[in-house]
Amino acid sequence: MPGDKKRFVIIGGGPGGTACATHAARLGADVTVIEKDIVGGAAHLLDCIPSKAMIATGSVMADMKSASEMGLFNVDAGLDFEALRKRISGIEDRLEGSMTQLLTSQGVKVIEGTGRMLSETLVEATAKDGSTTQIEADVIVLSTGSRPRVPDWAPVDGERVLTTRHAYPPPELPKHLIVIGSGVTGVEFVHMFQSFGCEVSLIVSRQQVLPEKDPEVAGVLEQSFLDRGVNLLIGARAESIEKSDDTVRVNCSDGRIAEGSHVLLAIGSIPNTDNIGLENTSVDHEWGYVKVDHNCLSSVSNIYAAGDISGKLPVASVATAQGRKIAEHAMGLHKGPHRHIDYEKAASAIFTNPEIADVGVAEADAFAEGRKIRVTKVPFASSAKALINNDSRGFVKVVSDPATGVVIGGSIVGRHAAELISVLALAVTAGLTVSDLAESLFVHPALSEVLSEAAE
Ligand SMILES: Cc1cc2nc3c(=O)[nH]c(=O)nc-3n(C[C@H](O)[C@H](O)[C@H](O)COP(=O)(O)OP(=O)(O)OC[C@H]3O[C@@H](n4cnc5c(N)ncnc54)[C@H](O)[C@@H]3O)c2cc1C
Repeated sequence: MPGDKKRFVIIGGGPGGTACATHAARLGADVTVIEKDIVGGAAHLLDCIPSKAMIATGSVMADMKSASEMGLFNVDAGLDFEALRKRISGIEDRLEGSMTQLLTSQGVKVIEGTGRMLSETLVEATAKDGSTTQIEADVIVLSTGSRPRVPDWAPVDGERVLTTRHAYPPPELPKHLIVIGSGVTGVEFVHMFQSFGCEVSLIVSRQQVLPEKDPEVAGVLEQSFLDRGVNLLIGARAESIEKSDDTVRVNCSDGRIAEGSHVLLAIGSIPNTDNIGLENTSVDHEWGYVKVDHNCLSSVSNIYAAGDISGKLPVASVATAQGRKIAEHAMGLHKGPHRHIDYEKAASAIFTNPEIADVGVAEADAFAEGRKIRVTKVPFASSAKALINNDSRGFVKVVSDPATGVVIGGSIVGRHAAELISVLALAVTAGLTVSDLAESLFVHPALSEVLSEAAE
């Protein structure tokens, strides 16, 4: 009976919200998604997809530059900035269209507007023209994502001083881009704009790029940046930005100055929870993040949070997994014991050149904790496929438990690392052993052969 259906109201239609919507609808719920900008979320419009689309274009350019090594001649490529812009918006339109179609085909109602909780069971959507709709909810899912953090000292104007939200693509191709922040987002920007031929400086506040990563892994990227002529300011903390007609200067606390044409801030994000009506509920939150348990349930028994605002690993795959888990839990599927999301086992990748990907326990962390591990490492230089690809940089590292042989983690640096890590992610989640990997009959010649070699 339609009237008996559980009513889900989901605020925010990014990966977390849409995964929850389609799954809950399939499980028989009556689902409404309120989205203020684009179905698919920041992930589609502003973050993952446009960044990877631009990186893909840059990679083709880089491959063309080394085409002579593949036996080709007269191959060269210049960047058509307008064509790139069109390509990105074409991908976004297609993804938004297919996501909207998926939602409507499942009977999910999509309301264009800004959602806000008026109480623990009532949500209001305000459309762009100011008109409002109130919707009763049995289950409320908050999945409003995050936005770039902008410190007081950064005069962001969207033209010369940019955040990640202005960069896909930026209003003009920078002559000399200064990237502030050397985490995952920052290094992807360095790679992207350097491959388009821009001069790039990177301000690294700590002693290595990718401070959270295994130093050996980060070291490969740092060396590649140096080889490509990126100007690295290691151990420099930006503290002010000055703009003049055609230059920007970033002043660092130790007196160093970086001067360029544009600045891009990549120094983290903050959750979009300031205007969603948390104050009208007793949902617990800290620093703007909604506190959730292992079912993504907040302190209120019918209000859940998925994605970046849950304060867990801020990647789209985690948001999607959380959305699905919420649908199952709220629909009562998890009465008995079940597998919770294990954030420690989430694979992640950095789309630089070479790519970097990892999963589970990192070698450096295990040593720091005094944990006994076995580490095996095989370079791609030993792989026939890497030679065929004309790219034998990097390695595969498999981390296992020496007592049981169970694979507990791994890192891959090299071409297609983001795809290859899935094999190790599966091994880590399923509790496979190094023998399982070593005895798997992979394709030859393929880069994946290095995985089974590293597991021997
Ligand atoms: C530059 C960059 C690159 C990234 N690349 C990757 C990558 O390659 N792979 C990866 O896995 N992750 C990547 N991420 C992270 C990823 O984008 C986020 O983790 C993911 O988007 C989080 O999904 P979400 O559902 O929480 O929120 P979002 O995708 O941010 O979606 C939230 C949605 O809620 C809407 N919304 C907000 N407030 C309201 C409201 N009050 N009412 C209605 N709607 C509202 C927003 O318009 C938005 O559409 C990247 C992040 C950045 C910044």
